Amino acid sequence: MQRFLVDLMLMRLGRWLRLLGQDAANPEGGSDEELLLQAKNESRTIITRDKELLRACPGAGVKCVLIRSSAISGQLMEMADAGVPLRLDPQRCTLCNGLLEEMEMLGVKRWQCRACKKLYWEGGHWQKMESMLQAIRCRIERNAERTGGAKAIEGHFK
Ligand SMILES: [Zn+2]
Repeated sequence: MQRFLVDLMLMRLGRWLRLLGQDAANPEGGSDEELLLQAKNESRTIITRDKELLRACPGAGVKCVLIRSSAISGQLMEMADAGVPLRLDPQRCTLCNGLLEEMEMLGVKRWQCRACKKLYWEGGHWQKMESMLQAIRCRIERNAERTGGAKAIEGHFK
């Protein structure tokens, strides 16, 4: 599985990627050089909207996904293009990217972050996120039908 490093201007997308079970780290430093170094050291693909950073990646030996959309739904569609399945999969803390541990409390399934101890459970917000992902998946399907590329995107729905 690909590991990601999310540029500071895409923190919201970073939280979404973690909800989708992706390993998406926050940057440790603010400069492009620090970002490139961290991506290189941790073998992560940088996700950014910054074209200059994109251009610097090959020289640093780092993979990069350039995001063009400013809307979160569009950004998620672009990540689907990059191979990220659009389904909720609680494995990572949305705040710190720490690994979640599944547990049961009073008969209810919960997850706790091993690093920062934040607790998660399937509440009303879960339904909202599911329906947003469902809407995006429908949009991708419609786009694929229009361009005749339905085969290419089948992988996203597994
Ligand atoms: Zn955490």
